Amino acid sequence: MLSVHPVNDTYLGLPGYVFAWAIFIAGLSLFFYIIYKRSLLIRSGEADPRLASLGRRLSDLLTYGIIQKRQPRYLWAGVIHIMIFWGFVVLGLRSIDLVTQGLNMPIFHPLMQTAFGPFYDSLKDLFELIVLGACLWAILRRALIRPERYRGSHQFEAYFVLGLISFLMLTDMFYEGSALLMDQSGQVKWLPASELAALILQGSAPRFLAGTHAVSYWLHILALFFFLNFLPLGKHFHIITALPNVFFKRLSKGAIKPARWGVEDIDELESLGVEKIEDFTWKHILDFYTCTECGRCSDNCPANAIGRPLSPKMLTIKLRDHCFDRAPLFGWKKGGAPAEGAQAMVGGIISNDEIWSCTTCGACEEECPVFIEYIDKIIDMRRHLIETSQNPKTFNQVLMHVEKTGNPFGKPAAKRADWIKEMEGTPVRALSEGDEVDVLFFVDSYGSYDPAAQSIASDIAEGLHIAGIDFGILGPLEKDSGHQVRRMGEEGLFQLLLEENMETLNEIRFNRIVTTDPHAFNTLKNDYPGSLQVVHYTQFFVDLVDNGSLKPLKRLEKEDMYTYHDPCYLGRHNGIYDAPRKLLRAIPSLNLVEMERSRDRSFCCGGGDVMLWYEIEQEEMRMAEKRIQMAKEAGANVIVTACPFCYIHFEDAIKTGGMEDEMRVVDLMGLLVSTLRN
Ligand code: SF4
Ligand code: SF4
Repeated sequence: MLSVHPVNDTYLGLPGYVFAWAIFIAGLSLFFYIIYKRSLLIRSGEADPRLASLGRRLSDLLTYGIIQKRQPRYLWAGVIHIMIFWGFVVLGLRSIDLVTQGLNMPIFHPLMQTAFGPFYDSLKDLFELIVLGACLWAILRRALIRPERYRGSHQFEAYFVLGLISFLMLTDMFYEGSALLMDQSGQVKWLPASELAALILQGSAPRFLAGTHAVSYWLHILALFFFLNFLPLGKHFHIITALPNVFFKRLSKGAIKPARWGVEDIDELESLGVEKIEDFTWKHILDFYTCTECGRCSDNCPANAIGRPLSPKMLTIKLRDHCFDRAPLFGWKKGGAPAEGAQAMVGGIISNDEIWSCTTCGACEEECPVFIEYIDKIIDMRRHLIETSQNPKTFNQVLMHVEKTGNPFGKPAAKRADWIKEMEGTPVRALSEGDEVDVLFFVDSYGSYDPAAQSIASDIAEGLHIAGIDFGILGPLEKDSGHQVRRMGEEGLFQLLLEENMETLNEIRFNRIVTTDPHAFNTLKNDYPGSLQVVHYTQFFVDLVDNGSLKPLKRLEKEDMYTYHDPCYLGRHNGIYDAPRKLLRAIPSLNLVEMERSRDRSFCCGGGDVMLWYEIEQEEMRMAEKRIQMAKEAGANVIVTACPFCYIHFEDAIKTGGMEDEMRVVDLMGLLVSTLRN
């Protein structure tokens, strides 16, 4: 390449490399200062152990960080992102090479003299064109298509950075293109980007080419260091934090984090939950820095879709801005209550309605390409609201009932097994301490007391009886599983329920627990300690159908079209998608159609957890009504669920929406049992 490098020229009487060193030292010093300031808040966050399972973490980093597996869930945006990401990877070497050339420390020179040199030059040139094209494409998409999910994102910053990346590509192209025209060495390489620039510069005077060469170099170096320092100031901080955030991602699903990591007994804690930004764990603060503002979380959030005052993306953006405010680049406002007159974080910057609007469905977390967590943060803020009695008043009675009677209805524990008296011809054993049984059927509160859920529990008991399973229920010994209580933020009461249920479970010998609803299944499996062998009824019965213990015989009406709704706590939180579908396919002549939003993109019914007792006025329509519409759009007239809460919500939405003639809801267990006898 060209023998005279721009740093070998003199500028203002000084050799160029003096300027290169000045830019390098100033740029890096400022960068490390900003990173240091940003790290202060992370370091002041609460503990969060994220180093276990290093092998799995490295493999996830490769899959989701480097290969970017989640990006193509939004196909074209994902393709653009992957092109730019890989451009950064390939061109990172080029940037270091250009900087070190300027410092008169060409560390890559020996490597570039090998066969790798021409190969890399061609590759980086190709990627410059790819990145340039991707930036142009991204700018046009934002400007012309204007995806709704970008609403509220920092659009100007996005355009600015896309422009800056394009500028970096162009300056390198013209730096190399001018060199190509001045180079007399006759070396032949395939350099598509540089050749394009050379074509544009063709016929220029040698002086102009030399000027273009030098100016391009200096502009490139200046833009590079400017870019580096601009990143941690806004949403493009993710370029630095995304890979660590993916590496430290949560490895398990379903469970809620403890009130404080490393503290066994919550009575030791002065306060519960999150009130101020430093109460979040360090990883959750890293999350705030990592949001790309892509809006995929809000695009999939059912609360956002029906007009509730919750957009997960905006929640993160507001809290990131708050982080920057609490830990500014100059000065530091560590700890303590907010300054007088400043808005409180919980209840102010993030309103109580935002916090209670979440159904904990997990759609946001499933979609986020950089694994930002929401549910634990929201529950932590709820813990603070509950502790300071800022919860909706409707919760008080529910929590009092659970505490006094072990169920949210306030009904006597002695009546917990009354539903089995109605079961003609199906004996159901109510177990006592010291009993032994193969399958312990954990019915939970709704299955025990709510008429609709009771009928699902009865169907399960009937199915178990027909299959000849030795099973029993806990009856009055059973307490509410606590799933809702924990997700409401009442950690103390959840711990009490857990203790009492574990004491009972330890007194009975059983092989497996089968649950009616996915919430009880989730909490017993993921929130309770130890390794309870717990399965949801769909998993249990699919095995019975598979091994021939049960045979669905009765044929269904041919004209009915069924669709299966994946309950959030069965699907997204526990990955059970196939067992219910397999059961449905085992039923003779059942026509099954999938909704567009199915499996891990299922749309929450709005039931379960706090939504049972919290009505919010700012709703355009109920989630269950929206879901029924989706079922209709798929061409179904029967929506099948495997969760009593989904069932109750759909049944109600069909009635209130006057859709009885077009749609009906069935629970999968009821459907299966109805086909077992011809
Ligand atoms: S868990 Fe569900 S409701 Fe809550 S913020 Fe995420 S997507 Fe929205
Ligand atoms: S939280 Fe994740 S999905 Fe939501 S806007 Fe940020 S990066 Fe995108």
